[in-house]
Amino acid sequence: MKLKTTKPTIGFIGAGNMGLPMVKNLIKKGYQVKVYDINPKITKKLEKDNIISVNNLRAVANNNFIISILPDTQNVENVFNADTGINSYLKPGTVVVDMSTISSSSAIEIGKKLQKEQIEFLDAPVSGGVKGALNANLSIMVGGKKETYKKSLNVLNSLGRNIIYAGKLGMGQVFKMCNQIMVGSHIQAMCEAYALCKSKGGDLKLLRETLMGGSANSWIIENLGDDVIDKKEHPGFRIDLQLKDLKLASEAAFESGVPLPGLSLVLALFLETKAHNEGKNGNQSLFKTYDRMSNQ
Ligand code: NAD
Repeated sequence: MKLKTTKPTIGFIGAGNMGLPMVKNLIKKGYQVKVYDINPKITKKLEKDNIISVNNLRAVANNNFIISILPDTQNVENVFNADTGINSYLKPGTVVVDMSTISSSSAIEIGKKLQKEQIEFLDAPVSGGVKGALNANLSIMVGGKKETYKKSLNVLNSLGRNIIYAGKLGMGQVFKMCNQIMVGSHIQAMCEAYALCKSKGGDLKLLRETLMGGSANSWIIENLGDDVIDKKEHPGFRIDLQLKDLKLASEAAFESGVPLPGLSLVLALFLETKAHNEGKNGNQSLFKTYDRMSNQ
C-alpha cells in the first residue's frame, strides 16, 4: 500500500513579478499558500485574486515550508535577520528556501544561522524569467544539504522543470552568477550583431531567423530578439536587477582573484544604459546603448 504524504503548508514572501505567478502555480498544484509582501498595493492585488495574504512575518512563519523571492541581498537579510526578522518565529524542522538572487556569502551566513536553530535552509535562485515563472518552467539552482533538497523537490517541481542540486550551501548562488555572466554576454552579443546588420541596411527579422537556425542560437535571441527589433522595453528582468547580478558576480570573482574581463565590459555597457534612465526597463534595452554608440 502506498503511503499518502501530506503536502506542507507554504508561507511565501515577496509576490512581485516572479513571486506572484509562482504562488499561483503552487495553488494550482493544491498547496495551501499564505503570502506576505511588504507593499500594500501587492496585498490588494492578492486579495483581488482570492489569494490568502498576511500582513506580518510572524503570520507567514506559521507554516512548515517557507519560500522567499525578494529583490536583493539587503531585503533577504532584513527578512532573515536573527533579531528583527522572521527567524525567532520559525519552528524547528521548518524548511526555508530562498529563491532570490543574492550574494553567496550572505546566503551561507543566513543558512548557518537558521541551521543552528534546527531550521533547514536552501539557496535556490532561478533562471527563466517571468515567462518561466508563469509557465512553471523555471530552472532552479539549489545549494544546501542534499537531504533538504530531496525533501523540497515536490514543491520545487511545481515551479520549475530543471531543478539542479548545485552542491553545498551558497553554491546555488554561484551557479546563478555563472548563469548571469552568460545571459549578460548573450544580450551584448545579440545587440552587437544587430547593430552591425542595421548599419548595413540588413533585415533584422531575417537576421534573427537565420541566427536561430545555426550555432548562434540562444535563449536570449529566441525570447528577447524580437523585442529588440520591435523596440519593446517592457520590464520583466529589469536592468537594475541585471546590474545587481553582474555586480554580485564581479564581487565573487574579485574575492577569488579570477579576472573576468568580458563581465567587466558587459557591466559597463549596462551601466551606460542605466545612466540613460533605463534601469526600470527590461534588460533587452541594452540595444539603446548600441543605438547611441552607432548613432542609429
Ligand atoms: P520584484 O521587485 O518584482 O518583486 C519583489 C517583491 O518583494 C516586491 O513585491 C516587493 O514588494 C517584495 N518585498 C521587498 N522587500 C520585502 C520584504 N522585506 N518583505 C516582504 N516583501 C518584500 O522582483 P522580481 O522581478 O520578482 O525578482 C525577485 C528576485 O528574483 C530577484 O532577486 C531577482 O534577481 C530574481 N529574478 C528575477 C527574474 C525576473 O525576470 N524578474 C528572473 C530571475 C531571477
